[in-house]
Amino acid sequence: MAAPQREPEPAIAPATPAGPLADLVPGMLDCVHCGLCLPVCPTYRETGRESSSPRGRIYLLRAVAEGRLPLDAGVAEEAYLCLDCRACETACPSGVGFGRLIEATRAAVEQAGLRGGFASRIERFALRELVPKPRRLRALVDLLALVQWLRLDRLARPLLPRALRELSELAPQVPSRRSRRALPELVPAQGERRGRVGLFVGCVMPEFFGDVNAATARVLARNGFDVVVPAAQGCCGALHAHAGDPGLANDLARRNIDVFGAANVDAVVVNSAGCGAAMREAGYALPGFGEPLAAAVRDVCEFLDDAGLRPPTGRVEGRVCYDDPCHLVHAQGVRDAPRRLLAQIPGVTLVLHDDPTSCCGAAGIYNLTHREMSRAVLAHKLKALAAAEPDWIASGNPGCLMQLRSGAQASGLRARVVHPVELLDLAYSQPES
Ligand code: SF4
Ligand code: SF4
Repeated sequence: MAAPQREPEPAIAPATPAGPLADLVPGMLDCVHCGLCLPVCPTYRETGRESSSPRGRIYLLRAVAEGRLPLDAGVAEEAYLCLDCRACETACPSGVGFGRLIEATRAAVEQAGLRGGFASRIERFALRELVPKPRRLRALVDLLALVQWLRLDRLARPLLPRALRELSELAPQVPSRRSRRALPELVPAQGERRGRVGLFVGCVMPEFFGDVNAATARVLARNGFDVVVPAAQGCCGALHAHAGDPGLANDLARRNIDVFGAANVDAVVVNSAGCGAAMREAGYALPGFGEPLAAAVRDVCEFLDDAGLRPPTGRVEGRVCYDDPCHLVHAQGVRDAPRRLLAQIPGVTLVLHDDPTSCCGAAGIYNLTHREMSRAVLAHKLKALAAAEPDWIASGNPGCLMQLRSGAQASGLRARVVHPVELLDLAYSQPES
């Protein structure tokens, strides 16, 4: 694709912000139309359309804010076609906070009732009635486990309507009951004690990535930290904010602000990039209330790197490709810490691939709501990973782990897809080399 051109300043007559997005205009005015964000935008890369680029979306939103365009289904489509990956924020020399613009736009779209269709209804139901309610979520995952054990999913799939069939193909394999057990409320430090941290375990993580949570607690304890796992914590609300439901997102965030505020910890450690990014923005979402949580949150790799990792002595053999979760590298600015940690594992050869910081197409539940675009975006990533011939692919976000696992399996990539802390945990469990 040709390099983006600097576009002439659009011939927009000065207008008084009057439309439904008027509050966003100050953030949009930071955009100087340079186009540096275009090459990093996955939807621009796939479509070649200016309107599906960050700069094009800003034009569109500004036109709505100034009352020159209506907030309609076309605007809604562009707002949701964006992956909210925030790669454009890293590329932008003017510091445009694109994630906030797009999430506020989605909230306006939802308020205006502009989004319909089967996938949106399922999404709304899941986000409101399942994700924040651990008992219901557990019951559903138990049911899914039974269906998978009886292989009913495979038997019934050909008979399902297309939308349900695609949904069932994306359902991850439910792990064993043992890995879904709740962690103890305190995992004590090993060796010389260096501090006390809270561990955020998330909503979906305990059901599908309980092993990652357990590995995170063990690795932190191994590094001398008491790990507090408050039972009263809950969903962080990130998915709700991305889907245009800031009200519920903020209600969920309030709970964690209270719970971790009372836990008396030095830091709140998070192993899911999407959750960490949302929690770090609690001060923006809930001014005067969310700042203490925002200041305490650390990604697990960032935390261990800052604290100084106790280097593992056991070996893990193989070539490891680290793939950056968007909401870690672009939203939290954590890029080198995971690589530095992995490089300290004896036997690991860290190998680069050509596309580490672009989105894998998971983007929360984007792979459910925009299947074709998600697949196209993932295809670039898989091609780059395959060329690097890894034995392991490491990435620190549950959505990315699911997406990369299913993509690797479908494309015949033999690499195992894991969270970086799982490799550290494995190394700590091996005999001294
Ligand atoms: S957030 Fe990602 S998909 Fe959306 S405009 Fe920015 S780079 Fe493109
Ligand atoms: S969003 Fe940033 S990088 Fe993109 S055109 Fe505007 S100023 Fe340039």
